[in-house]
Amino acid sequence: MGEKKKKIIKTIKVNADECNGCRACEVICSAFHATPKYSSNNPARSRIRVIRHPLKDIYIPVYAGEYTPAECAGRDKYVIDGKEYEECAFCRASCPSRDEFKEPDSGLPLKCDMCEGEDEPLCVKWCLVDALTYEEREEEVEEEEGPEEMEIGLEALADKYGLDKIMETVARMSMAKHG
Ligand code: SF4
Ligand code: SF4
Repeated sequence: MGEKKKKIIKTIKVNADECNGCRACEVICSAFHATPKYSSNNPARSRIRVIRHPLKDIYIPVYAGEYTPAECAGRDKYVIDGKEYEECAFCRASCPSRDEFKEPDSGLPLKCDMCEGEDEPLCVKWCLVDALTYEEREEEVEEEEGPEEMEIGLEALADKYGLDKIMETVARMSMAKHG
């Protein structure tokens, strides 16, 4: 048996019944991740999107998850309270079949980073009706974490966008951070 180590699990609880579709979460997320920080806001750059039914009022916030280079062979479709949503509406993946969770200029995937460096995720702070609440808990996990997730992720990105483009974006981001 491997060594146990402590891991912090961060959770944002979404209470869709409370969400009123104000989109403050999208605005603050895109502003926080703008370069320079807070210089602009564009919900298309947000790592949270509020999915709404086109005709009836039901709003469901969805967080950007992992990038995937391949489309799913099968699609999912949800009906909630008799309201039918678009195919893949609640999927968290940044994937080739749609524009969600992609940086509009570069096409690079977006993923929620829980507002790294902040004491609380900003979308949670800005949600005035408490549709989003933040929880942290500690769990014990095995030391061995398996193959390097980071490497696999980078490899897939490099295949799709070319290593040059990724290096260029990273360099731009770090210049903005330090400059
Ligand atoms: S800020 Fe809260 S209420 Fe407004 S859209 Fe986002 S989750 Fe819904
Ligand atoms: S936790 Fe931060 S990065 Fe994630 S969706 Fe909310 S504001 Fe965006």
